[in-house]
Amino acid sequence: MFPPRFDYRAPRSLEEALALLAELGREARPLAGGQSLIPLLKLRAARPSCLVDLRYLGLDALGEEDGRLVVGATVTHAALERSPLVRDRYPLLHDAACVIADPLVRNLGTVGGSAAHADPAGDWGPVLLAARPVLVAAGPAGEREIPAEGFFVGSFETALAPEELLVRVVFPRRARGGGAYHKLRRRVGDFATVGVAVDLALDEAGAIEHCGIGMSGVGLSYVRAAKAEEHLRGRRPDRAALRRAAEIAAEEVHPVSDHRGSARYKRELVRVFTLRGLERSLERASA
Ligand SMILES: Cc1cc2nc3c(=O)[nH]c(=O)nc-3n(C[C@H](O)[C@H](O)[C@H](O)COP(=O)(O)OP(=O)(O)OC[C@H]3O[C@@H](n4cnc5c(N)ncnc54)[C@H](O)[C@@H]3O)c2cc1C
Repeated sequence: MFPPRFDYRAPRSLEEALALLAELGREARPLAGGQSLIPLLKLRAARPSCLVDLRYLGLDALGEEDGRLVVGATVTHAALERSPLVRDRYPLLHDAACVIADPLVRNLGTVGGSAAHADPAGDWGPVLLAARPVLVAAGPAGEREIPAEGFFVGSFETALAPEELLVRVVFPRRARGGGAYHKLRRRVGDFATVGVAVDLALDEAGAIEHCGIGMSGVGLSYVRAAKAEEHLRGRRPDRAALRRAAEIAAEEVHPVSDHRGSARYKRELVRVFTLRGLERSLERASA
């Protein structure tokens, strides 16, 4: 199947790209890895008259700055998968990058494209909800910071305005922190039946200081297990507390039955993956 005819622009600077988006309005769509947008064009689910390629804007930096991890919007899933820094210090991101689709998609698909696309079965959404980075958008009026909790507005909907670009995602590095991502997919390359991201950090006395739990595949958008997080905050991470938090997370979600699994099965996956995620995060935080 071929996409409809479109104009293609490849600006060489962020300013040029933003000017094009402002000039063309809803007729234009940013193009990152094309792994979601091109299939949408082929299905006629999107009909922009112009694609604005983001590949030449220098948005592919990946590294630590002032103790935080800065991930440029066009950093690919594969770059995160292969980065020793990410593997050693940000294991939640590494876990997720390794289980997205297949190597072909990971080589082209980007973190910014995934966040902007906001597919409720995607893997970056739960990771962002758990790790609580700041997403930086650039638009005609300059840059603005959007906290992860406010970025996803609904199914395939974000807080980005049409004339804005997501330019980078900035992750905090937490002392005594650890994270983990668990995903069930029916076959290699599939989207998640359920995905659960956990990010936690301990205080100096060993109690849980930060806990983030994000999920995909269990709602119309990504879901945060806010009550389970609240249950753990300030507690010592003993087995009973972790088990109870996993049960609360399962009670908080309202999945629907579909071709990937029944609602009951998905709820049970949330419980099991939350417990595994908490245990693995704790191991990593204590290492
Ligand atoms: C076979 C297959 C299997 C897949 N499996 C998975 C999976 O298991 N898990 C998963 O999470 N994903 C999966 N994906 C999706 C993949 O991760 C894509 O990479 C991702 O959803 C979109 O990233 P992209 O860079 O390709 O964005 P594009 O397809 O280029 O763009 C997606 C959307 O975001 C917009 N956009 C892109 N970048 C920006 C930006 N910087 N600022 C503002 N808007 C922007 C575009 O205009 C478009 O609307 C799969 C895709 C395929 C084809």
